Amino acid sequence: MGGQKLGTPRRGRTVARSLAACGGLPAEQTRPPGRAAARRTAFVYRDGVMLTAKIALITGANKGIGFEIARQLGERGNVVLIGARDEVRGKDAADSLASRGIAAVPVQIDVTDAASVAGAAIQIGQRYGRLDILVNNAGIAGAFTGAPSEATADSMREVYETNVFGVVSVTNAMLPLLRRSEAGRIVNMSSHVGSLTLNSDPGSPFSGLNLIAYQSSKTALNAITVAFAKELRGTPVKVNAANPGVVATDINHHRGQRTPEQGAVIAVRLALLDGAGPSGACLSEDGAVPW
Ligand code: NAP
Repeated sequence: MGGQKLGTPRRGRTVARSLAACGGLPAEQTRPPGRAAARRTAFVYRDGVMLTAKIALITGANKGIGFEIARQLGERGNVVLIGARDEVRGKDAADSLASRGIAAVPVQIDVTDAASVAGAAIQIGQRYGRLDILVNNAGIAGAFTGAPSEATADSMREVYETNVFGVVSVTNAMLPLLRRSEAGRIVNMSSHVGSLTLNSDPGSPFSGLNLIAYQSSKTALNAITVAFAKELRGTPVKVNAANPGVVATDINHHRGQRTPEQGAVIAVRLALLDGAGPSGACLSEDGAVPW
């Protein structure tokens, strides 16, 4: 299927029909961007639809790093599905991106709610028939901040429900769709504070931190990343862990030195890895983060 040169949309029927058949995008979001945006994104259009666009779901994309990942993927011409547990917050975020010319569609998904996760997978399957990128970004710090000797199973469970079990259930719900992609990519939002090597090093900048629930949830997430990468070895699906650094967002009461824009960069890079890229790796912008 030969496309047009970028920035010169042409009317036709084939792609429009095939997109309409699987739900397509809302009409206002299939419009090609203006000349300036086309120069910035460099994509091929037919019927006002990006032929090279990837379909990306980002959980917890209504704010913080997730919103930024969505913005940066969207700015590169991809269709971004704004995963949010709250429908209003998700719609507001998607509207804000759409107003900047990004193909952003809200998807209600609470990663701790099996019915919501299954519903999101059905919706994406019906509308697009596949998923190219899954960013497991939704995460919480949890209410418990005491010493490990004071932790309860419930305080651990609260964090694990989102940061660990939620990632497994969303990944497994989306995996059939990712397997239909030519090059599926799964990015798990991890953290330097989940690194056992850094945590056990008295000289590391994180040595003073001992948040048992949050930190061990990210250690578990790293293990889950390796486990899925092992299962998917030999398939086109790659699974990696992204470490954004310490980013000022609601999760840490805006105490980070980095901006969400900076925090999103490594996740976007891993989401758009080419076939030669790694799988089962734990990376920051500066390279490998020790397990
Ligand atoms: P944030 O601003 O608090 O954003 C967290 C996002 O996750 C929000 O959209 C939140 O939705 C969503 N979320 C929470 N529970 C959810 C659930 N059950 N289902 C669906 N969505 C849910 O925090 P952030 O800093 O951007 O964090 C994003 C990810 O990066 C997290 O996994 C975090 O652990 C990781 N990370 C952050 C830092 C940092 O320094 N900020 C460092 C390393 C890793 P609501 O708005 O509805 O609450």
